[in-house]
Amino acid sequence: MSLNCYSGVLAVCVMIFSSTFSFQQDQPTVLLLSFDGFRWDYIYKVPTPNFHYVMKNGVHVKQVTNVFITKTYPNHYTMVTGLYAESHGIVANEMYDPVLNKTFSLNSKNIYNSKFWEEACPIWVTNQMEGHKSGAAMWPGTDVKIHGVFPTHYMFYNESVSFEDRVAKLIDWFTSDEPINFGLLYWEQPDAMGHILGPEDPRMGAIISEVDDKLGYLVSELKKAQLWDRLNIIITSDHGMTQSSSERVIELDQYVARELYTMVDHSPVVAILPKEGKLDEVYEALVNAHPNMTVYKKEEIPNRLHYKHNSKIQPILVMAEKGWEILQNKSDQLLLGNHGYDNILPEMHPLFLAHGPAFRKNITKEAVSLTDLYPLLCHLLSVNPLPNNGSFSNVEDMLIGELPGDAHPICCEQAPYAYFVGVLLGSTLVVVFLLVFIKHLTYSQLPNMQVQHSEISQPLLQG
Ligand SMILES: [Zn+2]
Repeated sequence: MSLNCYSGVLAVCVMIFSSTFSFQQDQPTVLLLSFDGFRWDYIYKVPTPNFHYVMKNGVHVKQVTNVFITKTYPNHYTMVTGLYAESHGIVANEMYDPVLNKTFSLNSKNIYNSKFWEEACPIWVTNQMEGHKSGAAMWPGTDVKIHGVFPTHYMFYNESVSFEDRVAKLIDWFTSDEPINFGLLYWEQPDAMGHILGPEDPRMGAIISEVDDKLGYLVSELKKAQLWDRLNIIITSDHGMTQSSSERVIELDQYVARELYTMVDHSPVVAILPKEGKLDEVYEALVNAHPNMTVYKKEEIPNRLHYKHNSKIQPILVMAEKGWEILQNKSDQLLLGNHGYDNILPEMHPLFLAHGPAFRKNITKEAVSLTDLYPLLCHLLSVNPLPNNGSFSNVEDMLIGELPGDAHPICCEQAPYAYFVGVLLGSTLVVVFLLVFIKHLTYSQLPNMQVQHSEISQPLLQG
């Protein structure tokens, strides 16, 4: 056997050892996926085989109480901070900060103003401060520099980038030489069509089926990349959706003059900033104006909503009853589906599934709060959670090895078996290699020694 062959055998041994060792050392990985506006019960409206595949092999939570207001930005920031909106500061999709004297709107560049985001510290920042790498595909806020940090890898928000391209990026990041341990993936559907059609429209069935196909695509790509069994994936959403109607519109113009206030955030929970000195006048005009509308002065907002203690929450909050819309005038755009309502309403609640080596299989859990997702993520990523409004004890029964008498370790049911087989195989190969190598060395050195002896003895004989 040539030395090249020995090098080859040694390389194989090293590979087996290193792959075994790196498998054991594999950092826990997590993918957090949000299908915007995916109401908890959409999976029962039409066949959704891919969602049901994940449910059957993982954890399904029936009711997730998200945070008020049940809009996109506040809830996406709650998922990654564990805080109520009043505490993380992204209190709405449309905001006015009286301290900064600046507005925040999804339709403008000012969402990139870091100051709006820095009342909290999202988990990707903490993850990276603890030496890990994060990757984000379009998740709200991940293309904003927060506390001086971007995710290790991220994409500037562009809704025209396909789901497939977002998945490809994430898989690249998870499988690179310096892999991420935490990925975030955002997709705009079924929210976008839910607003246009309304959730009760039969055409929503096809939209939900398309989202199910997207999930199927993701699962198959993760399997191809050999990530599916190693990755802990949480599939959730920011809010649900409820049907609106032109029959259920409240017109503010009927009750109060526009000159008296600025409408900062829009239906179904309207944030009103009265003009200087007009607070009581606007409040009195609205407070008993319509039976399907509740009007609060900021300090009167019920504590259970956790939506009071922030300077970006406006002096008057006007809240529509489920299915009602608040416009200034009926000529304003009416969406046939909407969200933002009281977070006590089941229609506002999102889907929640989890799958992966850390999660139990075929488990249905009754309820969690969306704030509990953050301590769960921190646990899965082994990072220290910052102070938050969630509770790990509310989610730990989803995890393997977290219940009394549960013999399974937290990570990787298959890991110990695979690990010991790998170690055994690697050790055997190394021992065999060393024996063969020593034997070869011994034999190959013998003729040389004889030659040397003869060379040494030659003169003596000659002499
Ligand atoms: Zn949303």
